[in-house]
Amino acid sequence: MIKFKDASKRLNEEWKGVRTTAYGERLREDLKEAALDMALWASTKHGVDLVVTCITATPEEDVALKRQSTTHSGANRELDAGEGCRAVDVRAKDITPELRERIAAEANEAGHTGGEMPFCVLHGEGDGVHFHFQCARGTKLQKVERRA
Ligand SMILES: [Zn+2]
Repeated sequence: MIKFKDASKRLNEEWKGVRTTAYGERLREDLKEAALDMALWASTKHGVDLVVTCITATPEEDVALKRQSTTHSGANRELDAGEGCRAVDVRAKDITPELRERIAAEANEAGHTGGEMPFCVLHGEGDGVHFHFQCARGTKLQKVERRA
C-alpha cells in the first residue's frame, strides 16, 4: 500500500491525475505502476511502508529546492512537453542507511528499467533523504522479472 506524506490532499490528487503540473502534465501511468510495485515489494520483503512526499512540482518549487532536473515539473518545455510527470519522491529518512542503499540497488538491479536514467536514485540529506523514482524522456519503464 502506498501512503502520502501528511495524508496530503495535493499528493492524493496528483496521484490520481486530477491535479497536474503547471503545464497540464499528469503523473505517468508506467511510473505509478512501478511505484506501486516498489511499495508492495518493500513492504513484503523489507517490512517498510513507502510514503510519497512529492509528485508534481511547479517551476518555482524546482528553483526553491535547487533541483537540477525537471522530472517533477516538466519545466523544460522544449524537451519535456508531452512527457508527463516523470518522477515520484518517496521518504527514506525512517529507513536505515544500509537498507536504504539496498532498496535503491535492488530497485535498479531487478525492478524496472527505462532509458538512460537509473530508475531509483537517493537524493537529499538528513530528514530530507528520499528515493527519487524516475524515468528518462522518450522512454517507457519496462518491468524486469524480479529475482527471488
Ligand atoms: Zn525527486
